[in-house]
Amino acid sequence: MSETPYIGFSNETLDKLPSVKAGDRIECTQCGQEHALIPPDDWEKGDKESIILFYCCNGNSFLGAVNGKLTSQTFLILFRKKIMQTIRLHLDHFNFFCPVTGEHILGSDEFKVSPATEFVFSLNDSMFEHAESKYEKIWDDLQEKENQLFEDDSDEDFDCWEEFKKTIKDNSIIVFEITTSGMACGPVSSTVCIGINMNYIPEEQLSLSKG
Ligand SMILES: [Zn+2]
Repeated sequence: MSETPYIGFSNETLDKLPSVKAGDRIECTQCGQEHALIPPDDWEKGDKESIILFYCCNGNSFLGAVNGKLTSQTFLILFRKKIMQTIRLHLDHFNFFCPVTGEHILGSDEFKVSPATEFVFSLNDSMFEHAESKYEKIWDDLQEKENQLFEDDSDEDFDCWEEFKKTIKDNSIIVFEITTSGMACGPVSSTVCIGINMNYIPEEQLSLSKG
């Protein structure tokens, strides 16, 4: 017969621990896999969060969080998915305004980046129209790898653009993959990928908040 363990947490202890919510994923130090934090089976969904959250590892449930706080940092590492997010759109127009600064990035004639724009990539031409130098380096390395795989006659599926996106571990960056279709000498479509740093703060505002 197993005994139910009693575990006590003072408010101070919990306050210092990382905040989590149901659905957050943790990296398990027991098995090395990711597990989701889940409320108990009998938890009835309402607008209140469950007091306790569990995670399942190898068929067993473990206590993961109490009162929205991760219970232990020694055996759990908080693993919020830090990846760039992609939004795919098919549009009948060719207008794009920066969601952070409001600047007109893509229009009928001119192409002008906003300061929150990390990169603009043409999927048709497989090249950057604009990119910060750190991205150019990543891209060059990936292209080298692609060339190497080609030379080696490798069967590995390797898509430079998809691989590039995986390298950006920042979930405040959103890439808008916008496909527009039209008629030229037959139907044509082009896809432009615009990476926006949603967490961009203009310098004026930075100095205001400091001052
Ligand atoms: Zn595990």
